[in-house]
Amino acid sequence: MTRSLPSAVTVRAAAKINLHLGVGGVRDDGFHPLTTVYQAVGLCDDVTAFPAAELEVELSATDWIDVGGIPLDEGNLAVRAARLLGDLHGRALTGRLVLEKSIPVAGGLAGGSADAAAALVALDRLHDLHTSDDDLLRLAADLGSDVPFALVGGTALGTGRGEVVEAVADVGTWWWVIVPSREGLSTPEVYRHFDRLRPDADPTPPDAEVLLGALRTGQPVSLARALHNDLQEPAIDLRPALGELIEQGEAEGALRGLVSGSGPTVVFLCESADHARDLAGAMMRSGHEVVLVANGAVAGSHVVPAHV
Ligand code: ATP
Repeated sequence: MTRSLPSAVTVRAAAKINLHLGVGGVRDDGFHPLTTVYQAVGLCDDVTAFPAAELEVELSATDWIDVGGIPLDEGNLAVRAARLLGDLHGRALTGRLVLEKSIPVAGGLAGGSADAAAALVALDRLHDLHTSDDDLLRLAADLGSDVPFALVGGTALGTGRGEVVEAVADVGTWWWVIVPSREGLSTPEVYRHFDRLRPDADPTPPDAEVLLGALRTGQPVSLARALHNDLQEPAIDLRPALGELIEQGEAEGALRGLVSGSGPTVVFLCESADHARDLAGAMMRSGHEVVLVANGAVAGSHVVPAHV
């Protein structure tokens, strides 16, 4: 019996925030060892793969997202995902990949990684490849440190460069207000600045025990106290407005403000959904054009019916 292949496959992948980002001193190969705790939050890109004769990428985005800097060629992480998946199966994969972006670009929310993970799953389904989970995770790690987490989602501990992921106990529903910046911040530049500010950084990154304990309480106040990001200082040093933004959100009642990953997005932890909506309103009234509310943890990359 022959099975007909789907006419299109849509895969949704979430943005991540780092609840703990412990950074060790730079290694000889240029990478920084990390101990991080990721959380997937309800701010997602959708990648739809349509059958096509070639491999193509198309972008669409929420109006406040500037897609100008996103490459459409081999520089796009979704294209690289298609190439690696094709190599694994010994064939050149084709498809029209439509990336519907809601995750800010170069925002420290790993939007490109989300697209790469979503493209792996979408092309696997479109071509009925039955790639094993282990192979998908291996390809994801080759694509970038944050891509394996974009596959698995939830709340997870990341070690190595962040690419070795393991689910962790998380009993809470956490509410976040997310304030993106108009202009992105380059991740390599923030790491370089970390090296300048912390030339003697211990090669072993700070562990995540306090954060993992806070997650198990389910209490927002405990989590707020435990949030930790070693890239926050260099990010604020490069862009002082981020420090002011954190102070402003905390003055408006956030339990804690934190730079997300390498920034420049700032996330604020709130007590509840109502608290998050109130804080978002206050931040918008004080002039921030784009203020989002999302909860975590949400699922990793998953197929959704078209047009949901
Ligand atoms: P990272 O920390 O991995 O750099 P980020 O959240 O700060 O993540 P991304 O939105 O993932 O930033 O994009 C970083 C850069 O990657 C962009 O400036 C863009 O040039 C490139 N890029 C490649 N593919 C994509 C994609 N599909 N979506 C967004 N950016 C992409």
